[in-house]
Amino acid sequence: MSDSAREALQSQLQALNEKFAERLSDELAELEHLVEQLSQADEPEQRRQRMLDLHERLHRLAGTAGTFGFTALGQRSRLLEQSADGWLQAANPDPQLLVEFAQAVRQLATDAPLSDSASTSLDQPEAHEPPAAHRIYLLESDPAAGQEMCQTLGNFGYEVLLFQEIALLRTAMNGQLPNALIISRHDGELEQVSALQQTLESPLPLLVIDHREDFASQLAAVRAGAKGYFTRPVDVTRLENRLENCLNLQLNEPYRVLIIDDDVDLAARYSLVLRNSQMLVQTLTDPGELFEVMRTFNPEILLLDVNMPELSGPELAQIIRLNDDWLRVTIIYLSAETDVNRQMAALLKAGDDFITKPISDNALIAAVFSHAQRARSLSTALSRDSLTGLLKHADIKEHVALEVERSLRSGNPASVVMLDLDHFKQVNDQYGHAAGDNVIRSLANLMHQRLRRIDSLGRYGGEEFVAVLPNCTAEQARQIFDEIRQRFAELRFHASERTFNVTLSAGISATDGHASASTLLEHADQALYAAKHKGRNRIEIAQPK
Ligand code: GH3
Ligand code: MG
Ligand code: MG
Repeated sequence: MSDSAREALQSQLQALNEKFAERLSDELAELEHLVEQLSQADEPEQRRQRMLDLHERLHRLAGTAGTFGFTALGQRSRLLEQSADGWLQAANPDPQLLVEFAQAVRQLATDAPLSDSASTSLDQPEAHEPPAAHRIYLLESDPAAGQEMCQTLGNFGYEVLLFQEIALLRTAMNGQLPNALIISRHDGELEQVSALQQTLESPLPLLVIDHREDFASQLAAVRAGAKGYFTRPVDVTRLENRLENCLNLQLNEPYRVLIIDDDVDLAARYSLVLRNSQMLVQTLTDPGELFEVMRTFNPEILLLDVNMPELSGPELAQIIRLNDDWLRVTIIYLSAETDVNRQMAALLKAGDDFITKPISDNALIAAVFSHAQRARSLSTALSRDSLTGLLKHADIKEHVALEVERSLRSGNPASVVMLDLDHFKQVNDQYGHAAGDNVIRSLANLMHQRLRRIDSLGRYGGEEFVAVLPNCTAEQARQIFDEIRQRFAELRFHASERTFNVTLSAGISATDGHASASTLLEHADQALYAAKHKGRNRIEIAQPK
């Protein structure tokens, strides 16, 4: 982040803190007013009601004051909240306790609240700078295996340099560091790589290929910094997915965080802090808009207040958990609740973690970041088809829906492509199912290479694929897929000492400002049918209806 951006952010934070300070004098006046009413109440029930009101206000203050730089005030409120709690729960509360409590609240309300300027400044976030290029160093002593891996990963768009000896790898690393290391382990290398990693400021993402699968080998790999572990023969699709996870995904695409808190200022502050760490943040103060935001923003992390006026956080979390589409969202309660039993009660209903307010900026960033990282790698693993590494049916459909909706909002075009292999039953019949699988995987690789990072590609059915291409007209999509069609038709496959080739057909539809995702999929399917009907090995664009 540049200095000027940081300054701008600082001044925004400062403004939020000042706004809170203004609100604070009203809050404290209200506390004073309530405590007077408490002192004057004669009826036990009246007293209890006043105490409940006070308890609620103190609880809120305990959570917010610290966040806005009034740490001492927050801590004092927390202690008073606990006294109120004790009084409310006692069967026969000591009258003297009430007098002391009232006195302490008055004191809190009249002391000038001091802001600690230290916490008004934003903690320095960790840098997550994306790498410029994806350069991979591969250590493999077997030249043939090394060449093959270079070729395959090269096809995926990586720049791979092959080293047959660790000494050469070390020399290369002294010159220029790669973005990741792949070590094919035969013996001893891992210890040397581990030593090499320790000389670096931060260890490189490392993938290890080994012939062993035992615990000790995997432990050695982890100690050397391994982020992936593969046994021979290597499933390159899985390896490439892992590599992409390490390199791009987590760095390029910001995490999406939704904050739901009825306290607008507090939500604004959290939002600023997380945005400063390159996350995409939306805030919601009216839970009624939940479904709409879940659909359009598709958050990975939900930061949820526990106590809101109309409904509780756990109730909202339970609503989210009713819907299978949102199972992957991590729900974190962010609340002033410090009672562990009540925290656990909330977690038992729904939700994944509990963060107590006030929280430092860095602690908030770390908590959200670690959950988001985990949520994303889980979600990626769940959404990928095991044969091709592409998105599964439900996920590509979801991507189509998201892109179509985005296109409707922005007015930019988007295209949907449906693709099917030609006479594939015959391929299976003549060359066997395994050869058929190989064809499917090759086509997946070819498309994956040719499409842009913003495009989404999924395995829709057995030998059917769907792609959605944002900012792309039907004609542009046709050109891209026609190129894929030609290159695919030229690929030679080998099975039982015979060679063969396979062709594909595709249908394309494009957004027109109102058609829904399902309509576009239907039109693309009709265009695919037309392509088949016209003789296969061709691409057709859906006719305007
Ligand atoms: P068309 O040109 O009309 O598409 O003819 P086709 O033979 O390809 O017909 P269709 O698309 O209906 O056939 C799908 C075939 O694809 C059926 C099944 O044997 C084969 N298939 C589906 N999934 C897989 C898979 O995962 N692996 C392999 N090897 N074959 C599959
Ligand atoms: Mg087919
Ligand atoms: Mg088919």
